[in-house]
Order: sequence, then C-alpha cells, then structure tokens
Amino acid sequence: MGKDRVWIFDTTLRDGEQAPGFSLRPAEKLQLARQLDTLGVDIIEAGFPIASPADAEAVRLIATELRRPVIACLARCHRADLEKAAWSIKPAAQGRIHTFIATSDLHLQAKLRITREQCLEAAVDAVRYARHHTFDVEFSAEDATRSDFDFLCRVIEAVIKVGASTINLPDTVGYSTPDETLDFFQRVRERIPNSDKVIFSTHCHDDLGLAVANSLAAVNGGARQVECTINGIGERAGNAALEEIVMAFRVRGDRLPYEVGVDPAQIYQSSELLTKLTGQAVQSNKAVVGRNAFSHEAGIHQDGFLKDRRTYEIMRPEDVGAPWNPLVLGKHSGRAAVKRRCQDLGIELEAVELLEVYRALMSIADDRKVLTDNDIVAVVSTVRTTTVVVAEPVDPFDTPTATTHHALHESGYGHGV
Ligand code: MN
Repeated sequence: MGKDRVWIFDTTLRDGEQAPGFSLRPAEKLQLARQLDTLGVDIIEAGFPIASPADAEAVRLIATELRRPVIACLARCHRADLEKAAWSIKPAAQGRIHTFIATSDLHLQAKLRITREQCLEAAVDAVRYARHHTFDVEFSAEDATRSDFDFLCRVIEAVIKVGASTINLPDTVGYSTPDETLDFFQRVRERIPNSDKVIFSTHCHDDLGLAVANSLAAVNGGARQVECTINGIGERAGNAALEEIVMAFRVRGDRLPYEVGVDPAQIYQSSELLTKLTGQAVQSNKAVVGRNAFSHEAGIHQDGFLKDRRTYEIMRPEDVGAPWNPLVLGKHSGRAAVKRRCQDLGIELEAVELLEVYRALMSIADDRKVLTDNDIVAVVSTVRTTTVVVAEPVDPFDTPTATTHHALHESGYGHGV
C-alpha cells in the first residue's frame, strides 16, 4: 500500500518574513526561493503583494523564474488585494491566490467589525473573483480553531461551491492541542458535504510550542497540506518548522505513514541560507537544524555512540546535509571520545599518553565551553615534549574496585539520561 502524499506549503517568505527582524529584499527572497525549489517544497508562498510594492515585486520575480513549484501569494478578501495578487502571480507556470478572512466572532466583532453574514459574503465574493484569475485558489478561515463550528462549516462549504480548491484551517494564535486538532479536522471533513472536492490544509503557530505536534495531528485528521517555515520562523513564536515535520515523517514512518517531496539532504543548507540572509541565528538546541541537534558531549553518550551510533542517534547529521561532527569534547567527555578525536586528527596515542592528554584537556575544559581541535593538538604536543611522571588521574568519583574505576574513565562523567 502506497503512503499518502502530503503537500509541503512553505511560507518562510510570507509568514516567516513578517516576523520582526526577518525582512528580506526581493533579490534575497528570490535567492531563498531557489533554495526552496531545490529543497523540493510543493508550494512557495512568496509574499503578501498588497503589503508593499517590494513584496509584490518579489512575488512576481519568483513567479517568473521558478517553474516547478506552485507560487502562491496572500490577499485579504478585498478587490485591491486580489488584483495585486493576481498581477504578482501572472507570470507563474502554476500560480495560486491564497485569500483569507477571519471567521471567529472575536475577530469579526473586535477587529473587522462586521457580522457573520458580511464575512460569509466577503469570502464567497473573494474566492469567486480570484477564480477569474487562476484555477488554483486557497481559502483560509483565519482563527479557524476559535471560530463557531457551525458558522465555520457554512463558510467553508460556500467557498468550496464557488471554486476554492484548498481549505486552510489555521490555528492562528497557537491555541489548539494535538488531540483537539485531530478531532477538529475529522469533524470538519465529516460535516461538510463537499469536503472530498478539496485538500485540507493546516497552518499552526508555536505559541505553546505545539505547532509541529498540532500539524502532525491535523495530517492524521485528514489534512494533506502542511504550511510551515524553515527554522520555524514566523509571527510571534513562529510557525511549524518544516524540517521537524519532514524528519518526523522520515524517522517515524511507522506511526506517520506519509510521503513528502522534500529532499531531507537539503534541509541544513536551506536553514543556513535563511540564517545568512536574515542574520538571525538558530537556537543551538533547535531540533534538526540547531548546532547541538546531533552533538554528544557527555562521556557515557559518547562511549555508547562510538560503539554503536544508534544508542543515542535517531537520525544522522548527514541525513539532513549537516556537516556537524557529533562528538563534542568538553568537561563531560571521556577518554573514548578523546582517543577517537585524536585518531581523526591523525594522532595515535599510547595508553599512557592518552591518560595524560585526557587529564590535561579536562583541566582546561572548565574555562572553555567546547574543546577545539586546536586545543587538542596543543595539549598533545605539550604532553609529548614534557617529561611526565605517570600517575593515576585524580578521580572525584574514586571507587575501590579497579573495574568500576576503569569504566568511569572510559565514559567520563556526563549524564546518562
Ligand atoms: Mn500565520
């Protein structure tokens, strides 16, 4: 049985770029769009053309150059927005207008100051108008997860009737939980009589750190398009991270039997390019693309890793194209890792030398956050040019039995859990 195909809709250039500190010039957006094409995303949301002339220009540039992916852009349910959006995607081989309006009473009353009936009418008008320009029209019910369920279903049924082909149900403020999201998508699809005519899409925000979990739950509930961004950038706490979604499918295909067109080996390069263009670094413990995502410093982990990588590794840095060396030397490291790193540097150490090098490295490890190859080479040369009286290293966990003593030093003192 073949796996279900899930479409990856990348909104790095729209929702991601809207985040403070992430704005990009049109030429930079084009550069990133080329990388997204190489990465293999299905749809690139290239911008929000009415927001600025530069945004419109960027969308048009991308629509002109990239022929494989669908090029989408955002528009409110206003004529001016839709016209600008249509102009921007006109050169595209496959262009999509993505129009949206809020459907929750809170947004309708407090923000838009319109009635439910006015909202319904605006949504239908916008989709109908967008369809004059392109066959590919996506409709988003902003704040869908906090909308009145019956009203939301009425709006969706109506926009499908006038030609929307993708229905996005955003968790705009990152409020949902995974169990709720699964149930929500199932219920919407069951309730709407024409739901089989469209692809349902999920767009989750990370305010509670649940964007990826909610996106995966939505897919289990029947969504077949996931809206996400590189490095999880986006409004406030960000959007669902593309690299986490893709690797969850890849690593846990047993529980998540879905197929995507993204090439995981291009993930690291995409993340790097975004960081370079925006000047915004990724947190070091960020899943999949953070500097420490594949690193092992703790001695017990390093020892296990050296014996069999699978002990502490569910995916390899090379799977996502990352150049990281998984073994980081620091004060929690053990002799096994020191020995291996020395071998990698072409240095073969006698057992006695290893002990001395290890001891010397640990004595400077407190001052350094991470021990570099230069530190190791310097220490080895010092040890080799100094006449040393070989003694047992000072062991804060000194134990009476020789075997335990040996085992501790082999793996170092890092946490095992
Ligand atoms: Mn959003």
